[in-house]
Amino acid sequence: MIPGKSRLVEVAILSGLPKQLSYHLPPALSHDDVVGKRAIVPLGRQQQLGVIVGVGGSYGGSTKAVVEFPDAEPIISAKLLKLAEFVSSYYFASLGEVLRAFLPSALSGRIRQQFWITDRGKLAALVSDGDPTATALAAILGRKRKLSAKALEDADLKAETLLALRLGEFRWDTKAATEEPSDKSTHQGEEITDNTPPRQILLSEAQRKAADAITAAIDRGGFETFLLHGVTGSGKTEVYLEAAKRAIAAGGQALIIVPEIGLSQALHARLSSSFGSALGLHHSRLSSGERLNVWQKSRNGEIKVVLGARSAVFSELPDLRVIVVDEEHDQSLKQGSPAPRYHARDVAIMRAKLENIPIVLGSATPSIESYYNASQSKYTLLTLPERIDSRPMPTATIVDRRAQFQRNDFSHLGPDLLEAINQSLGRDEQVMVLLNRRGFAPSVRCYDCGEKLSCRNCDITLVYHKAANKVVCHTCGHQERYPDRCPKCNSNLFTYGGIGTERLEEELRSHFPDAGLVRMDLDSTRRKGSFEAIFRRFSSGEAKILLGTQMISKGFDFPQVSLVAVVSADTALEIPDFRARERTFQLLTQVGGRAGRGVIAGHVLIQTLNPTEPVITFAARHDFLDFYRDEISEREALNFPPFCHIILLALEATSLRLGAERADLLSERLNAVKRAGYRVLGPVTAPIARRKQVYRYHIMLKTQRVKQTLGVLQHLLQAKEFQHNRSFRVIVDVDAVDML
Ligand code: ADP
Ligand code: ZN
Ligand code: ZN
Repeated sequence: MIPGKSRLVEVAILSGLPKQLSYHLPPALSHDDVVGKRAIVPLGRQQQLGVIVGVGGSYGGSTKAVVEFPDAEPIISAKLLKLAEFVSSYYFASLGEVLRAFLPSALSGRIRQQFWITDRGKLAALVSDGDPTATALAAILGRKRKLSAKALEDADLKAETLLALRLGEFRWDTKAATEEPSDKSTHQGEEITDNTPPRQILLSEAQRKAADAITAAIDRGGFETFLLHGVTGSGKTEVYLEAAKRAIAAGGQALIIVPEIGLSQALHARLSSSFGSALGLHHSRLSSGERLNVWQKSRNGEIKVVLGARSAVFSELPDLRVIVVDEEHDQSLKQGSPAPRYHARDVAIMRAKLENIPIVLGSATPSIESYYNASQSKYTLLTLPERIDSRPMPTATIVDRRAQFQRNDFSHLGPDLLEAINQSLGRDEQVMVLLNRRGFAPSVRCYDCGEKLSCRNCDITLVYHKAANKVVCHTCGHQERYPDRCPKCNSNLFTYGGIGTERLEEELRSHFPDAGLVRMDLDSTRRKGSFEAIFRRFSSGEAKILLGTQMISKGFDFPQVSLVAVVSADTALEIPDFRARERTFQLLTQVGGRAGRGVIAGHVLIQTLNPTEPVITFAARHDFLDFYRDEISEREALNFPPFCHIILLALEATSLRLGAERADLLSERLNAVKRAGYRVLGPVTAPIARRKQVYRYHIMLKTQRVKQTLGVLQHLLQAKEFQHNRSFRVIVDVDAVDML
């Protein structure tokens, strides 16, 4: 190749190399429209799949050549490439791993070159006439036309010979990655009982006002962030629907992001009855072929509305006019692992800005960050202060469990709670019972020596699952058969600590044997179709009690539910996280909001050991504003988000000493930077100090300027002590949500 004659391209390797690499385009390949195209490039002794993210300069003699373009067209648009660059730099992830998250796995997985026998080759084999090549071909053909290198070798055939005779050719094949980051829930997007005709609904005045503000912004075009704060049951779904309809009427597309599709049944049903086949679902339960299909159809405009979990924010939608993020406060919108560790709400806002379109964030319990932005007029606040038809908000009772304990009554279902359930069932109404712990018992302890059964890989107790007769680690998934004897003292007497949904189910059944009870948690919904079956049994009224984890707190709209009972408001409060109060408020308000959504009045009963905790009383009064004022002043006083950004550095090492040493060293170097513009907290051992056989340390950085801080980090992490290897790595989590 002649230097200076061939263009250079920058390629982001999808397997996630830290940096883009330069290659040149050989004359045999088209030089037009190359940015955004997939490219097969040599890397070491392998060939890898990448995306061309830039062009520039000309061949100087030192680069390798792009091998091939698997597709004729670019598969990443210029707009999405920009978004990918933002995600890459803000979330400290390589452009390659970000682009991999953008693409369906059928396009981003590992590539393989397969040798195919051409039609000509097949014909030659049929009329072999004693020719040795053709005879050898005939011997291995007939089974399949795709041949591995080994099959060729075994048949004493050379690929080059077949290529030269045009009897065979290489073709590229992308193998879908086996491991795709899951969008959390395992029952996403299961098909619901869906043949309701589109309903004509007359919007309430508050809905009309909110919808008008949004549709006007869609008509105008231009970036604007709306925060739709609507109490539970205020009809936010209809407002989203109006927004999507307007986008389509204008010839465009809409994107609706929800934390978990399976739990957004009402929204899903409304959208599919309104949009039919123009609605595309995007979630982790799709097969790679289904996902590719949705990707292609939203790209060519056949799909007008994409409804999806967090990774839907990366969907290719060429004529996007509006984005909606429902339940914008929900923590599952943040991806924890693997990189990119992005927050889908924040990426959605960035995307709306790039696309110059409006975005709607909706919630009954907005995140402190979003409400703060609204209070600073960065966002436009829209409110739905009342339930539809002015239905009252549920009333609430806080039950002081300490008083119950003082009477030596340690039952998990206190007398007030049982009585409330009794009354609702007596009126033939339905009841939801929340307990945010799955399994039978959160811990198992030896009666004689006090030893707790704990995970061999993690610093955490094993949870007893009675039906499966196992003890399970909820952190790493390790499980063992329930032991006959204590591993320490050989005693065969155990006691259970605490209660999980499985045990609660037994207790509730014994109190209410005829109520028909269904349990909804990760375990009971694992099997395909089981979520749907539980949902149907409760929505049809066959089951009167729905018991479950936080899974039941979101989005459900069952009009016959008059009582929501919270077994313990304290579990979420105890988590060592500055957002524990916010989470508790959200959980109580959201689950309470499932009561009284129809014509019957709703009531919430909350058992707690902290009856005077303000968060609980705010939630009982549905008083978001008072909660917000209380919380924002605390955040300001202690300098937590939204007054700063938190970058959590998690150092993971295979030995305690190595982890501690590196954590000390990193914090020392971070502290030594002059005028760095961040504050360093720690290192501390992480709340889960050992996970999956790895020791974990945390360093927390508080900063106003994420970009600048990441620049410093990038520099410091280049030191040899912080290079990743089999015994050590540093995870950088920007705007971290999981603090464990
Ligand atoms: P949210 O998401 O705000 O909790 P939903 O959108 O689920 O509330 O609406 C609550 C209930 O009110 C649903 O059953 C919905 O069908 C109904 N609804 C919403 N808007 C109207 C309206 N304008 N007229 C009558 N019913 C409505
Ligand atoms: Zn023991
Ligand atoms: Zn474990």
